[in-house]
Order: sequence, then C-alpha cells, then structure tokens
Amino acid sequence: MYNKKTIEDVDVKGKRVLARCDFNVPMADGVITDDKRIREALPTIRYLASHGAKVILCSHMGRPKGEFNSKYSLAPVAARLTELLGQEVTLASDVIGPDAKGKAAALKDGEVMLLENVRFHKEEEKNDPAFAKELASMADIFVNDAFGTAHRAHASTAGVADYLPAVCGYLIQKEISIMGGALSNPKRPFVAILGGAKVSDKIGVINNLIEKVDTLIIGGAMAYTFNKARGHKIGISLCEDDKLDLANELLEKAKAKGVKVLLPVDNHVGDKYDPDCHDLFVDSADIPDGYMGLDIGPASVILFGYAIKGAGTVVWNGPMGVSEWDKFSQGTCGVATAVAESNAVSIIGGGDSAAAIEKLGFADRMTHISTGGGASLEFLEGLELPGIACLADKD
Ligand code: AMP
Repeated sequence: MYNKKTIEDVDVKGKRVLARCDFNVPMADGVITDDKRIREALPTIRYLASHGAKVILCSHMGRPKGEFNSKYSLAPVAARLTELLGQEVTLASDVIGPDAKGKAAALKDGEVMLLENVRFHKEEEKNDPAFAKELASMADIFVNDAFGTAHRAHASTAGVADYLPAVCGYLIQKEISIMGGALSNPKRPFVAILGGAKVSDKIGVINNLIEKVDTLIIGGAMAYTFNKARGHKIGISLCEDDKLDLANELLEKAKAKGVKVLLPVDNHVGDKYDPDCHDLFVDSADIPDGYMGLDIGPASVILFGYAIKGAGTVVWNGPMGVSEWDKFSQGTCGVATAVAESNAVSIIGGGDSAAAIEKLGFADRMTHISTGGGASLEFLEGLELPGIACLADKD
C-alpha cells in the first residue's frame, strides 16, 4: 500500500509549488457544465496558498493533439477558480514559454496562477524528459493531486518528479488511503461488484479481487460470458467467446479460494440493442433466441442486494446493464440503492456506477466516490500508478 508524503510533510512557505490537478471538466460552447473536478482540487490549493506557497497550477483538458487549440484553453477554468477561491488566478498564455516563466517568477507568496493546457505540447503524453525538466524549472516542489490521470506516465504527472521533490495533495492522499485501506485491511465481509462491458477489460481486477474479497458479484454485459461458460443459453447477448475458458478458470479459482461468486439469475432482455426494443424479463439460464440481456432482473437485484446488505466493505465498478437508457437502468439503480442503504464502507470506482449514484442523489451516502475511473480500476487491479509511484515515500 502506498504511504506517500503529502503537502503537510514539506515546508511550502515562500516556495514555488507546481501542482498538477485534474481540471479536465466537461464543457459545452466554452462553458463549464460541471465544476466538480475544480472544486475537488480546492483543499490542496487553499492549503498551499494559505501556507505561503507561490502556486503554479497545471492540468490537461480534452485531447488537443499536442498543439495550441483555443477550444481546449484553460481560460474558463482560471475564471472559475478565481470565483471559487475568492482570489485572482492568472492564466499564462503558454505552458513552458516566456509568459508562463515570467508569471511564475513574479508570483508572490500566497498567489496562484494556472499554466495553459499541458497537452498543447505533444511532449506531455510522451513523458519527454526535456519538457518535464522545463516544467520543473519553474518550481521548487511538485505536488500531484490529479488522481484521474495518475495511471498515466506523462511529463506533468510523473516526469517532473525526476527533477523536483514530489509529494501528493489531499485528493490523491484520500484516494490511496481509502482504496488502499479497503484492499489491504477490509472490514468483512468484503463484497466486490463488477459490471460493464467486457471481461477482457476486467480480468486483471477480477484476478486481484479474488485474492481479497469474500463475495464477487458480476453483472453487466460481462456476466453473459460467465453464464455461457456455465452452460446457460444467452441468446444474442454480448459474449466474448474467446474468453469462455478464462471465465471458467476464474470461477474455479474463486471456488478454490472460498470466494462466493454471484451471477445474475434473471435478466431484462431486448430484441435489439435499442432503448425502443421489444423487452422481456427472463431466467438468466434461458434467454430466448433473438434476445439479448441488457440489464439484470429484479430477482438478481434482490440476490445481490442481500449480499450487499450484509457487507462490511463494498467496492463497485461498472454498471449492471445499459444504464444510460432509463428502461435498462433499474438493475444499476437497484444495486446503487442497496449500497446506499447498507452500513458498509462503500467505494465507487468512478465512471457509469458513479454517474448512476449521482443521478439518484446517493452520492453523500457513499464512503468514497473515486475521481478517476481508469485510475481506480488500475488501483483495484493492484497495478502501480506512475503518478503516485513517483512521489516521495513517508520516512
Ligand atoms: P465499462 O466501461 O466496461 O464499465 O462498461 C460500461 C458500458 O457497458 C456502459 O456503456 C453500458 O452501456 C455497457 N453495458 C453494460 N451492460 C451491458 C449489456 N448487458 N449489454 C450491452 N452493453 C452493456
């Protein structure tokens, strides 16, 4: 488990601190439609500014493909930060150019500035050492607080740590202490709920969690590969036929470890991949020809809900069905309700499951909703996250 130094373990007074945040917020016509990611970065920024640091913020936004594109400018983020912090956050017109360097050099203690989108340079995603060195040259300390990109080894998430003392901000600290704590010392029974589209995307997570959990709940499109492997009729449901042996091996492994695996017992199915399809509720062992599973059914919600109710810890990643469509979102909503009503330590791994929880208004009933879908998945897989591994360990 990571035990990294934080902003509280270094003296930031009078120092130039380069803080990598995740300001990759959704935008429509130049307007921020959800500023959650900006608000989540505020505790770290406030701490640094109030402790006398000269704060240089940086982030990526979207995919500008390595060149300047005003559509991906962080100008709206600087404006929103200014409002939220109640102090001016100036935006540099470049990332490592004369404007950025000039503004960084002129910062006074407690002042905050923002560099332009780091992905305006193709060197960012290539983790180019010369670019990382240029970024680092503006600062004395590096703080990573961008959990959402911590699984990427980019110049501003990992490369800069080769040139500066590096610590984590509050957001990364919270993510690693809650998720790390659940994985290394969970309150039992420990129940993992996995859904989503593909077995192949989640093999690593399943493999790692089988070593740790008491119960593994599998829903989403993934479940049909497992159910077919068990000899069920799955109609035209999504299935990875080349993963059938693997599915059986994973089920065998779980059995050998004494891990209970719960798969859907009933499904909400449709005659095509379309919200306006003809739909039926059927037994999971016998999905009719010409129909595909698009959600778990009500009996599965009860079965899964029973395991969730008795859990000490719940980790959830991936929807139970095509939750983007109201008609096939009941399974995901049912599971979200069970998690919200349980007394378990509940950890939601971002993405569609987090969206379902927010939509239902259950966010404040969860212990933790991860700010990084991909990053939290890699964390649950037990993989090393480069943006965290590069930070200094506590003494
Ligand atoms: P993932 O990114 O792997 O978590 O997968 C999320 C996607 O899986 C969502 O867009 C869902 O619509 C999709 N999904 C979940 N269940 C099904 C299903 N039964 N059939 C087709 N797609 C599904």
